[in-house]
Amino acid sequence: MLRENDVSTNGSGADATAADVDFDVVVVGAGFAGMYLLHRLRGLGLSARVIEAGADVGGTWYWNRYPGARCDIQSVDYSYSFDAELDETWQWTEKYAPQPEILRYAQHVADKHDLRRDIQFSTRVESAVWDDNDSRWQLRTSDGNTITSRFYVMATGCLSMPKEVDIAGTDRFTGAVYFTSRWPHEGVDLTGKRVGVIGTGSSAIQSIPVMAAQAAQLTVFQRTPNFSMPANNGPIPQDKLDALAKGRPQYREAARWSGAGVTVDISTTSALAVSDEERLAKYEDVWEHGGIIQVINSYMDHLVNPAANELLCEFVRNKIRATVKDPETAEALCPKTFPIGTKRLCVDTGYYETFNRENVRLVDLRVHPISTITESGIDLVDESLEFDVIVFATGFDAMTGAIVGVDIAGRDGLTLKDAWSEGPKTYLGLMAARFPNLFMITGPGSPSVLSNMMVSIEQHVDWIADCIDNLRSAGLSTIEPTQTAVDGWVQHVNDYADITLMPQANSWYMGANVPGKPRVFLPYAGGVDRYRAICNEIVADDYLGFERRGPSTQRVNDGIVCRVQPDVQLMLEAMAAMNLPTMDSMSASEARDFSNAIAAQRAPGPDVGEIVDGVLPGAGGDLNYRLYRPASPGPHPIVAYFHGGGWVLGSFDSDDPLCRDLCVRSDAIFVSVDYRHAPEVRFPAAADDAFAATQWIADNAAALGGIPGELAVAGWSAGGNLAAIVAQLARDSGGPRLVGQLLLTPVTDSDFSRASYTENADGYVLTTALMRWFWDHYADPDDRISPKAAPIRAESLADLPPAMIVTCEFDPLRDEGDAYAEALAAAGVPVRHLPCHGQIHTSIPAVDMLLSGAPIRAEMAAAIRGFFKARVPA
Ligand code: FAD
Ligand code: NAP
Repeated sequence: MLRENDVSTNGSGADATAADVDFDVVVVGAGFAGMYLLHRLRGLGLSARVIEAGADVGGTWYWNRYPGARCDIQSVDYSYSFDAELDETWQWTEKYAPQPEILRYAQHVADKHDLRRDIQFSTRVESAVWDDNDSRWQLRTSDGNTITSRFYVMATGCLSMPKEVDIAGTDRFTGAVYFTSRWPHEGVDLTGKRVGVIGTGSSAIQSIPVMAAQAAQLTVFQRTPNFSMPANNGPIPQDKLDALAKGRPQYREAARWSGAGVTVDISTTSALAVSDEERLAKYEDVWEHGGIIQVINSYMDHLVNPAANELLCEFVRNKIRATVKDPETAEALCPKTFPIGTKRLCVDTGYYETFNRENVRLVDLRVHPISTITESGIDLVDESLEFDVIVFATGFDAMTGAIVGVDIAGRDGLTLKDAWSEGPKTYLGLMAARFPNLFMITGPGSPSVLSNMMVSIEQHVDWIADCIDNLRSAGLSTIEPTQTAVDGWVQHVNDYADITLMPQANSWYMGANVPGKPRVFLPYAGGVDRYRAICNEIVADDYLGFERRGPSTQRVNDGIVCRVQPDVQLMLEAMAAMNLPTMDSMSASEARDFSNAIAAQRAPGPDVGEIVDGVLPGAGGDLNYRLYRPASPGPHPIVAYFHGGGWVLGSFDSDDPLCRDLCVRSDAIFVSVDYRHAPEVRFPAAADDAFAATQWIADNAAALGGIPGELAVAGWSAGGNLAAIVAQLARDSGGPRLVGQLLLTPVTDSDFSRASYTENADGYVLTTALMRWFWDHYADPDDRISPKAAPIRAESLADLPPAMIVTCEFDPLRDEGDAYAEALAAAGVPVRHLPCHGQIHTSIPAVDMLLSGAPIRAEMAAAIRGFFKARVPA
């Protein structure tokens, strides 16, 4: 039940009577997005009509008139930049302007640009159907009219469709009911009233202090406490005025190229890398002088590292405890179920202080759930409460609600609802496959709600207007993304979300607030700046990922724009900026020094139960080894591990974080062996050493704390090559018996003709040239075809132990790893093959550095556990 309290205001908009009219573009929504788009379209000489359900412009700021409503981004930033004159002349009265002022601003813009004459108010678009014959959209509106247009833009807002209330008995209540999202335009007098507020999101947090000051009693029903910071509202801060005085255009341009659409200092320091005193001082500073974006960015790892995040959470909880006098209420107000920043941080004026008032009560719904709403109030499972007024501050069906709220059918009658039944699938958050000429502004898959929305809105509007203009100039009439491009973008959006803590919250970003909505991270977490660059790059690349058609032409530029994992991409960009020398231009000893220097910079990896360094007999003398023992009580199964480094570089030190990580995850002992290196000792020394070491480990399993007979081999890169060879040698020599082989991006062949050597020849750390350099150091050409160098060339691959093979998309070794997995499977060996999209040869061992590798290592560890399963008592 949602009661709309809509009262018409000054909406003297476009004539709604003319039926069957046709436009170049129809825009749905006259919020900031629809308004600016109309302005741009007019500038291009296109005919445009905006349809708006409300009675005037302003969108969010037209509907959300609850007391205390304000922006949470400073007004000088949360405002249009497209009109320099407007920007110079409009004066904001406060740092965070109140809703009436923001609405006046929207109305002022509408007046200044005479927008209303092309906006049809108090009209809802109900359906939109693509007519393939005519290449036009046919829209039905709530006044019964049909409108057609070449292009159709949903400027319907991310937070414009209120969530249906999902509480039993909502229709029974006979008192007054208000929604913060549909607050009556004439206002509400709560004086002397008993008021219940359901929800503690941003809307509730802003309105509760104001309502509490009026009402006789205010009861706040809280299901999940939220993090909120003080607005410290007042005049526009001097630092902003100074920055603007230096040059408004430059200031605006910097915001366009910032991560969140606001120019702030972005820390490059971990919250864990500084002293408690230093961190606290920093937190106090941003709390007092900053905003939500500064607080979250005060250290670089708040959104990616749970331990760093928890430090900020506890800082905020301590602020709550210091403010709220009743300790039980304070504790109930402290969020503990999600990392800070994974829901939009709230901004308040006196929220926590309100709970010190005599007339305010907090009901913790986790302890006292609502059983039903009644005629006279709200029944909890253990108490009945009576109210005159219930306020629902229960939020929105965010990002997709308003879009699928219109019955949209694209090519062949495909409905958007069906196309998005498992979650929205867009290209750039701008368009969907099979819905030609349908654009969305700040749609799912764009930075939108993670940013200062004004910056994101302007960027989308400009992109769409330029796109339509570009089509027109090229004599083309339709544009739509290819399925490949959409799938690639959806993957990229998910990849970005997955390296953050964002998916951990039951937030509206995840669709988790609406029962039955697919759990998908909706916005793009890669940042406004990166996103803008991608959008520009796509245009520069002749609309990569789009299909465009004209009367006699069809241009399909199929492709995927971002394929490398986001964290890997950031690392590659950082490395490219350092302009490092290539290792294949060095001598072996120089390359060793260089790789050791790089290794010294890495994160150490997790603690294990015990680390023991020792010496074992190799094929040509003693070899060092390092044993990693899990913290759990032994004995444990053992994995004999061989490090990477092209048989030339590396040691147990180089792969130390990976061995720690796998030891902890798999609960197995890892014995990492330092085999002899080329070029000092060439083929087959490394293979012979690896086999000798494995035999020794098998013979000494009990003394090492292992379980005799429970032995597997593992290795990365050249170490994967050695592990595969050891598995073959053990089979052919009658032992030791191995229960599994884990091969991470292994060298399995010496054949450079496979496609991955060409596709990934350069740019992904391990280059084709470096692989040649490794082989040249290790083995003569004749030896390279021996199965002891190229295990894929073995006469038979039957009867080898079960294998897990991990290959990476952007690795020259990808195809030979894939081929080995196929060949083993063909020989009847149980194989789990994990091809990793967007990864490079060196990314998975980068423990605690590249977060996208963690789930892959988890699968590797699961495979190791699987090798030993059923043999090892629980
Ligand atoms: P909206 O302003 O939501 O406008 C969309 C319009 O489309 C609405 O008027 C709606 O009536 C209309 N519409 C939808 N469907 C139909 C239909 N089928 N037919 C006809 N009309 C339709 N963002 C920030 O960056 N900073 C902030 O401080 C901030 N504060 C916010 C405070 C609140 C209370 C809320 C709810 C959101 C806030 N946001 C903020 C996000 C805010 O939504 C955006 O900043 C921005 O105002 C969105 O503009 P828009 O034009 O894209 O959408
Ligand atoms: P919201 O953040 O989704 O909060 C909704 C609240 O209602 C939550 O506390 C939620 O609890 C609660 N709720 C929903 N259904 C419930 C139920 N059945 N029973 C009990 N509680 C229920 O919505 P919002 O406050 O309107 O804010 C939405 C977004 O709009 C914000 O995140 C922000 O982006 C924007 N906004 C900004 C400002 C600003 O400061 N400028 C102000 C308002 C809104 P759960 O958390 O347990 O689901």
